[in-house]
Amino acid sequence: MTHAVKYHPGMMLMEQYVEGTLSADVALAVATHIDLCPHCQRLCQDLHNDHGSQLAQLEPALSHNETEFEQMLAFITEQAPQQKPVKRVQGEMVTVTINNREFKIPRALSRMAQQHGKWLQLGGIATAKLPAGDKLHVSLLYINKGTEVPNHTHLGMELTLVLSGRICDENGEYGAGDLLINSPDDTHTPHTKADEDCLCLSVLSAPLKFNKGLVRLLNPLQQFFY
Ligand SMILES: [Zn+2]
Repeated sequence: MTHAVKYHPGMMLMEQYVEGTLSADVALAVATHIDLCPHCQRLCQDLHNDHGSQLAQLEPALSHNETEFEQMLAFITEQAPQQKPVKRVQGEMVTVTINNREFKIPRALSRMAQQHGKWLQLGGIATAKLPAGDKLHVSLLYINKGTEVPNHTHLGMELTLVLSGRICDENGEYGAGDLLINSPDDTHTPHTKADEDCLCLSVLSAPLKFNKGLVRLLNPLQQFFY
């Protein structure tokens, strides 16, 4: 991969990811970013090591209650064989096809991407829901070349991870692995260039609010994205 990832999750998200305190949907976006980003792979490993040594210090206290500790170990051991087949599935290259284009899906997202819902298309934009989390809206978002997503504000948090291709907005240009985080105050008009389409993972906590055009035309668009 020639593209150098420029936009990372940031230290706070990475720490929460390693501690396992992120919501499953945000963790999915961070894990997929890590798959695409050598920098964050190293950071994640360092944080894991730090976190591991912190846990090791807690261990004497835990072993006081040996029965409980043994039960927990037994539980972990019991779970382990079940996880193995999943890992093997993840080792295979999963692809998603849209607009006659086949996109390779990063390992962390492959199991979820295989279960994507029907593609809904509107102009050059297509979305397919993923059967992820309970609270957030998680989908694959395809934007054909030379297409603009209408200018919008965010009613909640918007995470966009570029999986393939390139997308631009008022703030910059993003390629595979780049993670855009937009909060309720941010307004932007994402678009693709004339010669390159783009596939993203999108995580939304609330619908987008479109700022231009006729309200009756934009309302269905809002539902389309959420
Ligand atoms: Zn990164």
